[in-house]
Amino acid sequence: MTEHYVPKHFDIESFQDALLDWFEQNLRDLPWRRDKDPYKIWVSEIMLQQTQVDTVIPYFEKFIERFPTLESLAEADEEEVLKLWEGLGYYSRARNLHQAVREVKSEYGGKVPDTREEISRLKGVGPYTAGAILSIAYNRPEPAVDGNVMRVLSRLFHVRDDIQRPATRKKFEASIRQLIAVHNPSYFNQALMELGALVCSPKSPGCLLCPVNAFCQAHQDGVQEELPVKGKAKPPREVDMVAGVIMKGGQVLIHKRPDSGLLAGLWEFPNTERQKGEDWEETLSRFLYESFSIKAETAGHVMDVKHTFSHLRWNLRVFQCEIIEEEEASLPPSARWVDLSALDDYAFPVSHGKIVKRLQQDGD
Ligand code: SF4
Repeated sequence: MTEHYVPKHFDIESFQDALLDWFEQNLRDLPWRRDKDPYKIWVSEIMLQQTQVDTVIPYFEKFIERFPTLESLAEADEEEVLKLWEGLGYYSRARNLHQAVREVKSEYGGKVPDTREEISRLKGVGPYTAGAILSIAYNRPEPAVDGNVMRVLSRLFHVRDDIQRPATRKKFEASIRQLIAVHNPSYFNQALMELGALVCSPKSPGCLLCPVNAFCQAHQDGVQEELPVKGKAKPPREVDMVAGVIMKGGQVLIHKRPDSGLLAGLWEFPNTERQKGEDWEETLSRFLYESFSIKAETAGHVMDVKHTFSHLRWNLRVFQCEIIEEEEASLPPSARWVDLSALDDYAFPVSHGKIVKRLQQDGD
């Protein structure tokens, strides 16, 4: 058995009682808690990755209203799925979910698998999501260890191992297997996550009001704010991007990103990376000619947009462009002229969505 962090004489039963009693009295009324439909729990867990609960709620409600069943999502167009995800970021989550849902429909008759082995084979379902679905929807005593849970456990057992190391996560999973209330694994896992979200917060945890403070080693040692230990993440790489807004007879040129990689399948204004020392406007003009066969010159700065991904930061400078000459027939198939009023029908990443908003405001 994998090593765990639970001390020998830890009173597991009393800990479970304290945690579950607190949860039953304090659980938030969240839309994905209203029934135990594994499909809805799955959607919520994917949306909640890297995203705050308050941000997710309206997206979840809109998504489920449009796709109330796994079948309805499986049959949907990817374009529509991405459109409903627009603004939530990390779009590969939506694409993977869509593909996995299709697989569940074709391979498992539309029933979300209820074993770790099968569910873990689905695209985008990592150990945390698998554990969350199995425990919350199917009441299986499976660990669901995310950042919140690692923070709580690091403090509860005064763990100084780096939570970014896979070996540490494994030990936390083994700890949950020891601790989990087998009579109610669904509530147990949700209670730990809720405790991390509402009480044992990253900064200034509310130890005095915490239902499990009597069990908490970090609280007793007065070191809760030093934990968890997290190895330094690399700072995101800065990338300068230059984009063009090119208008022709009330229409604007947009372009669809490739089907894989960053922001796959989303629409954007033509843009390219600027190398250090290069002139912004020259870079853009050259790119428009090489990629879209459009000779254009810049006609004013529209805006600057900054956007940070987990590993990079875009400094996007946007210019209005005027066409001097164009070879219509040479436009790549991924590019399209669209009416300004039709831009809302396309899914843009957050950064380019800001350009859309600006154009719509200017057009009003
Ligand atoms: S006592 Fe404090 S540090 Fe310990 S689990 Fe509760 S809130 Fe977190």
